[in-house]
Amino acid sequence: MSRHRPFEIRAEELLSSLSDAGQYKTLQMLQSPMGPIVRLRQPDGRSKEVLCFCSNNYLGLANEPRVVEAGIEGLRRYGAGTASVRFICGTFEPHEKLERTIAEYMGTESSYTFVSCWTATEALFPTFCEAGDIIISDELNHACIIDAMRLTPVIKKGVKKTVYKHSNMDSLRDRLREAASDPEVTGQIWVVTDGVFSMEGDIAQLPQMRRLCDEFNAMLVVDDSHGHGVMGRTGRGTHEHYGMIGHNGIGHVDCFTGTLGKALGGGAGGFIAGSATMTELIIQRARPTLFSNALPVTVACSADKAIQIVMDEPERVTRLKNNVETARTKLAAAGFEVIDSPTAICPIIVGETAKAIKMSKRLLELGVFVIGFGYPVVPEGVARLRIQMSAAHTDAHIEQLVDALRKL
Ligand SMILES: *Cc1c(COP(=O)(O)O)cnc(C)c1O
Repeated sequence: MSRHRPFEIRAEELLSSLSDAGQYKTLQMLQSPMGPIVRLRQPDGRSKEVLCFCSNNYLGLANEPRVVEAGIEGLRRYGAGTASVRFICGTFEPHEKLERTIAEYMGTESSYTFVSCWTATEALFPTFCEAGDIIISDELNHACIIDAMRLTPVIKKGVKKTVYKHSNMDSLRDRLREAASDPEVTGQIWVVTDGVFSMEGDIAQLPQMRRLCDEFNAMLVVDDSHGHGVMGRTGRGTHEHYGMIGHNGIGHVDCFTGTLGKALGGGAGGFIAGSATMTELIIQRARPTLFSNALPVTVACSADKAIQIVMDEPERVTRLKNNVETARTKLAAAGFEVIDSPTAICPIIVGETAKAIKMSKRLLELGVFVIGFGYPVVPEGVARLRIQMSAAHTDAHIEQLVDALRKL
C-alpha cells in the first residue's frame, strides 16, 4: 500500500480544485517565432497558424532580423555562458554597452541589468531600504513589487510598508501623512507604482505623485515594464508621456525598473535605471547580482540592438499608436466595451471567469489568440479578454480580430 506524504495529497487536491473551478492553465506550445502570426501546436499534434493578440511584442522586435543577428553575433564572439556572477568575472563588454544604452534611452545617469525585472525589483528594495524606511505601494502594483515588499523587512528589519488605493491621490496623501508623523519612520519614504497597469491598461498619475513625493521628501520608483517602448512620443515610457524626462530628482522619476522581455526585444532581462549612486549600491550590495548569474551575453546583445532600433525608429511607436487607435475604434463600432486607456492594452470586460475562458477558446478556434483573464488575477464579475496590440499588426489583422469577436 502506498503511503502518501502531505505534500502529495494537498498538491493533488489543489490541482483538481483548479480544474473543477475552470481555472486550470494549459500551456500553449508555439512552433514559430513570436510575431503577429504564430504557429501553435494543436492537441492532436498538428500545427495551426493564428493571429496573436496576447503577446507583449508591442513593437514587433522579438523576431526583428537585426535583433536576432545581434544575438547570434554575441553568441559567436562571447560564447554561450558567463559562468560567473557579475562581480567575480561575469561582466562582459556587452553588459556595459547595454547599460549605457538603457540609461540613454531612459534619460537616467546610469542603469544596471538583471535576468528579469522580477529579479531587479527584488534587488532594489532590500538593497536601498534601511530600518526606519517605509515603502508605500499602489494596491494594484505588479506581483514582483508585492513580493519584494514582503521580502524587504525580512532582509532589513525595521522597514515598514503600506498600500494606497489604486491611483487614488487622496489615499496616497493619507499614507504619506501617516508616514511623516510615524515616530518609527525616521529614514526614507519610498513610493512605488507601475507606470502602466497590466490588467486595466491605465497609467499612473506621475505628475501628481511627483508633487506629493516632493512635499514629503519621498523617492518615486516606477516599474514601467508595459510602458517602455509604448508610452510617450518616442516610446521612453509613461514619464515621457507626461514630459518628465531628465535625471535630477525634483520634477522627475527617481528610479525606474523595467523589463527587456516585452517591447524591448522580448528576450529576457530587467533593469534598474537611476542615479550612478544607485547602480553602485546595487553592485556592492544587491544579493540577486552578488549571488546569481548575469543576463546571458547573447540576450544583452539582442536587447541593446532592440533599444537602439526603438531610439532610431520612433515611427514604430507611432505605428503602434495608430494600430491601437484603429483597433479601439473598430471594436467600439462593433459594440464592444473596451476600457479606455492610452496604452496598447485593450481589455474587454465580459463578466464571469468561465465566460472569458470560453470566449478565448472559441476565438482560438476562429484563428485569433487572445487570453481571457478571470479570478484570481482580476476580481470575479469583471473577467476580461485582454487584447494587446503590436506595431507588427496590419489593418487586415485588426479586421480579422474584430470579425472573430463579432462571431462570438
Ligand atoms: C511583466 C512585468 C514584470 C516582469 O518582468 P520580467 O522581466 O518578465 O520579470 C515586472 N513588472 C511589471 C509591471 C510587469 O508588467
